[in-house]
Amino acid sequence: MARVALVTGGQRGIGAAISEGLKAAGRTVVASYAGNDAAAAAFTERTGIPCYKFDVSDFTSCAEAVEKIEAEVGPVDILVNNAGITRDGTMKRMTREMWDSVIDTNLGSCYNMAKLVWDGMSARKFGRIVNIGSINGQAGQYGQVNYAAAKSGIHGFTKALAQEGARLSITVNAIAPGYVDTEMVRAVPADVLEKIIARIPRGRLGTAEDIARGVVFLTGDDADFITGSTLSINGGQHMY
Ligand code: NDP
Repeated sequence: MARVALVTGGQRGIGAAISEGLKAAGRTVVASYAGNDAAAAAFTERTGIPCYKFDVSDFTSCAEAVEKIEAEVGPVDILVNNAGITRDGTMKRMTREMWDSVIDTNLGSCYNMAKLVWDGMSARKFGRIVNIGSINGQAGQYGQVNYAAAKSGIHGFTKALAQEGARLSITVNAIAPGYVDTEMVRAVPADVLEKIIARIPRGRLGTAEDIARGVVFLTGDDADFITGSTLSINGGQHMY
């Protein structure tokens, strides 16, 4: 039977490419989202991948959703913690609410979701967890103490959980994307974008598919010996 993959924030942006990549690799895929019903409906119509609406920052909401997904689709073998938000601002302007929302959505969600699928993966002696970090969690970024802390936390979370999962045949890895050509990046003024691209050794932005291929690789049955790793997919930018 096809392995079941759950991709949080899996109906648009990078998550949509991950969901589609996993489906093309033969997985039974389920995507989650926060509230963008139109994007979810269009995605399901186009791909046939079902979408479940719940807040990944809220443990109770995650618990109800995981129970429903496992009853309707099957036990989750592959978890991709992709959902994320930004609430940028320098320290002078950063409120406690901006801090909490980014930490809870980007990092708290990894605990919530991994906690809820962990016992099942342990019992079945198979699991693949991939957490989407960021180059800004590796290098920091002006105006993003909340986001950089959350993403940096993801990298520590990944290495610690990988140690617990190793003997259970559960691998836990992270991907740290660089600048990816999504709606958010497309909104950046052309001159600023030019400067960003000039700092990327490969000379272009990443695509959502570049990230998705990494997820497909790390969640494959053959990737059994890779755990606790962070795969930097950023056109070489992490070296500068
Ligand atoms: P998008 O903003 O395009 O999509 C974010 C997704 O997360 C949406 O599906 C959204 O659902 C979902 N989401 C947000 N908050 C919640 C929540 N509380 N509960 C459930 N789902 C939620 O993001 P990207 O595709 O650009 O980014 C995907 C991941 O990659 C993020 O973790 C991001 O930090 C990371 N990343 C992105 C980079 C980039 O250049 N774009 C670079 C490095 C890392 P809905 O549509 O309903 O709002």
